[in-house]
Amino acid sequence: MRRQGAFGCLLLVAALPALATSINTYRERAVVDPRGVIADVRRALDQAGSTLAPERERAMLWGMGTAAINLNDDAALAEATLRLDGLATATHDPVAAATAGFLRARHGIANGDGDGLGEALRAASAVQGQVEPALAAWARFQLCDAYTLDEKPDKALPSCYQAVAAYRALGDAYGMGDAENDVGLALATQNRVDDAAAAYHRARQHFREARADELVVMVGDNLAQMYLQQGRAREALALSRASLKQEQASGRVSDALGSMTDIARAEAALGHHRKAYAGMRAVVAQARKAGIKGQLIDFLRIEGGLAERVGDLHQALADEREATALEARYETPAVRAIEAELSQRYAVREKELRINELERANQMQALQLKAVRAEAARRHEHEQRQRMVSVTIVTVAIGLLAVVAMLVLLLRAKSRYAAELQQQTLRDPLTGIPNRRAFMQRAGELLATDPGPTAGHVLMLIDFDHFKRINDSAGHPVGDRVLTLVAACLAQRVLEPSLVARVGGEEFAVLCPRVGAESGVRLAEGLRAAVAALPMPAAVETQRMTISIGVAMFDGRCCRDLSGWMRAADSALYSAKSYGRNRVVAASVVAGS
Ligand code: GH3
Ligand code: MG
Ligand code: MG
Repeated sequence: MRRQGAFGCLLLVAALPALATSINTYRERAVVDPRGVIADVRRALDQAGSTLAPERERAMLWGMGTAAINLNDDAALAEATLRLDGLATATHDPVAAATAGFLRARHGIANGDGDGLGEALRAASAVQGQVEPALAAWARFQLCDAYTLDEKPDKALPSCYQAVAAYRALGDAYGMGDAENDVGLALATQNRVDDAAAAYHRARQHFREARADELVVMVGDNLAQMYLQQGRAREALALSRASLKQEQASGRVSDALGSMTDIARAEAALGHHRKAYAGMRAVVAQARKAGIKGQLIDFLRIEGGLAERVGDLHQALADEREATALEARYETPAVRAIEAELSQRYAVREKELRINELERANQMQALQLKAVRAEAARRHEHEQRQRMVSVTIVTVAIGLLAVVAMLVLLLRAKSRYAAELQQQTLRDPLTGIPNRRAFMQRAGELLATDPGPTAGHVLMLIDFDHFKRINDSAGHPVGDRVLTLVAACLAQRVLEPSLVARVGGEEFAVLCPRVGAESGVRLAEGLRAAVAALPMPAAVETQRMTISIGVAMFDGRCCRDLSGWMRAADSALYSAKSYGRNRVVAASVVAGS
């Protein structure tokens, strides 16, 4: 006989954390005072009526249902499940529906009637989609418990280990005690006696932590069975007696029958077969009286074994027949159908999880893409900045070059301007031909570079004849015009390297390097004739303008320097005036005459 210790009110602790205190109270009391719980809940429901909060009502009905199971009170259990069904319909609450389902499952499995495991699987699947951790722990533990009670340890153990972990995560020592107790039961079913004993020890430790002394004793009852198998009959007997005392005190008939069975087995192990047989007869009788059908098979088999041992073969045969008949009703096709449905729903859930993972992967990819794009944008910006810097550098360089070029141009212009200025200081503003300074400069340079008396440098000094008259008769501006015309005429005929310059008011000088006296005089004569032929402005009365020219060759006799040379030419000019004007007189002629 395997008996679960504390299937009970703790289920809703996880489902309804907000009402944790009241549910914990029922969880304890449903074990130690199940009658009190049922009475209290009935009274509370009658008084509060429809004003009760659905969650509160659900918790109370769960407490009532579990207490009813512990008492084998079918009427109270039916009332609790019917009320829960009503609540589930009214509030569309899957947890309320599952709560009723788990109560029916427990009753069905314990009594071997109805579709116990199917109910549990249906209830678990109803809340399976819930993601709230406490609710997940609750559903997992219910499956663990149902499979354990139905003696399917292979299926029970994974759920039970998960339930232990889930309760540990929630810090629920009581829940851990319950789940570890189921681990012990499942392991015991697999005949892993030592492992089961270790699980029970852990369960007792958790219940001690939760200060649930009654449950420490109840698990001790399970431990007793392991002791029996380990040949520790006396220790087993002590634990079972302690359990029985507590179970009888709290009216838990089913559990009490389990402990009585354990005591009988311990007695048998100690060799007290008749005492053990008597004990088991009492167990079977009480089970029949209480209508406990699920455990009856085990009770009958143990009773049968003991009957055979003491020689009551008639009873042994009757027990085996009855047990076999009861067993045939256990497995139902509905269980397999529900199992298939649940697997399918878990498969759907797994598919959803895979889709979630794919979505997460997609999001990650999107994030990575975003990061890559941001990096590309950053690089593009950096490149643009670099390009801008390069452009700026080139622009500045071009600007600097332009400034340098402009400076060069300015400097050139400046030097050109300076040259022009200098030229202007050497030009006569009225006629535009070289002035006296230019003449003196060129003549000085000529004599400095080429002072030889045989070089043949010739100097002419020219003076307008009776120029005053023009000014007087036609006016000063006409005089200026005549000055300009004559200057242009002279400049046109005096070619490089010779030079004509205005050296005074209406006096001009012509410097002819290396031409010799004869050519010099001939050139002077040509100039005189040209001027004499020059047409004059209408205002000029005489209609004719003549010039007198004094010519001097730098020959080392008449002159030794520039001033001497000019004096000699001037003297010849004077002679030309004296001889009647409009003529050329050479200094040598003067000197010779
Ligand atoms: P002569 O034949 O003896 O030289 O007679 P002249 O009238 O030319 O006498 P002189 O050479 O002494 O006189 C020069 C005159 O030239 C005096 C002045 O009025 C005139 N003259 C000098 N410079 C300028 C000038 O720039 N413009 C004008 N319109 N007349 C000038
Ligand atoms: Mg004069
Ligand atoms: Mg004159």
